[in-house]
Amino acid sequence: MKSEQLKMQNRKALVIFSGGQDSTTCLLQAIADYGRENVETISFQYGQRHAIELEKAKWIADDLGVKQTVIDTSVIKQTTNNALVDDSQEIKSAQEGNYPNTFVDGRNMLFLLLAGCYAKQHSIKDIIIGVCETDFSGYPDCRDIFIKSMNVSMNLALDYTFNIITPLMYLTKAQTWEMADKLGYLDYIRLHTHTCYYGVEGGCGKCPSCDLREKGLNQYLTHSSK
Ligand code: ZN
Repeated sequence: MKSEQLKMQNRKALVIFSGGQDSTTCLLQAIADYGRENVETISFQYGQRHAIELEKAKWIADDLGVKQTVIDTSVIKQTTNNALVDDSQEIKSAQEGNYPNTFVDGRNMLFLLLAGCYAKQHSIKDIIIGVCETDFSGYPDCRDIFIKSMNVSMNLALDYTFNIITPLMYLTKAQTWEMADKLGYLDYIRLHTHTCYYGVEGGCGKCPSCDLREKGLNQYLTHSSK
């Protein structure tokens, strides 16, 4: 649907928002499509190492003038063990045939379900999540097939017509930077978003997340000769 149509219908959207590059780009796109007054964000706190992301998320939501709701999902720590919540583990990229050890079992499924419950309560049908299949590093719950299946399950379980939207699903990181640039927010995202797995302000420059972000940015900047 075009932005004007969405605005005219006063359709509302809930953005799953971590304060990182991807979800911030989704949030900015949603504000452009739906109008600021029709967009709100939901963030999840689960004892992640990169908790600094959440501080950034709060700052960005305030700065952009959209409502943010933070949900405590620290129960994740009781059920899974992985490098994102366990400081003693070294963060590794995907080894052959394996997921990266930053994969949190069930995370996106839980986030979508909770976002759905919240959305229904607030008469919101469109849920936006910045998952991406292209650079997904092997995370099974970032795949389109999972999102579609979850959409159907949520519609059945909550008896409500959700529309889960994934604007970044088939974009490369370079194309996500291009999207931010077209929205007029390239520097904003460079400066204010946080994507490092180690939670280093400005990025550690070494972890898989920093690596992906930097490579994508360089690719885009070279391509667009900025
Ligand atoms: Zn890093």
